[in-house]
Amino acid sequence: MSQCEYIKEDGDQCGAYAVGRGRFCISHSNDPKIMDIKAKAVRNRGKSVIDGLASWEERPLETVQDVQELLSDALNAAMLGKISNGRANAISSLGNTLIKAIELNQLAEEMKDLQRIVKEMSR
Ligand SMILES: [Zn+2]
Repeated sequence: MSQCEYIKEDGDQCGAYAVGRGRFCISHSNDPKIMDIKAKAVRNRGKSVIDGLASWEERPLETVQDVQELLSDALNAAMLGKISNGRANAISSLGNTLIKAIELNQLAEEMKDLQRIVKEMSR
């Protein structure tokens, strides 16, 4: 997680963590989804911030980082008792399988690049 990029009136950078892949923390984000979660949290006096973040939002899982974020969310949700151990185990297992598949694909792409370079060099 990266630090929120918001600069406060006194010139200091906000010290909170940016939410998800965004540039700002939950207080400074202008992402409609985050703002919706924030609005709900205010209505429920802060209770639903964790619920909102722990709930699943469909998203692409194409890179190792995508899957790391999923696993991180799942771990947090499991630690807070927001999801069952069975679901946490399933996410962990599928996530690890997905990471291996992504890494294999990356290796295959790198291998193709290397083969192309070797071919060009041997001309
Ligand atoms: Zn902030």
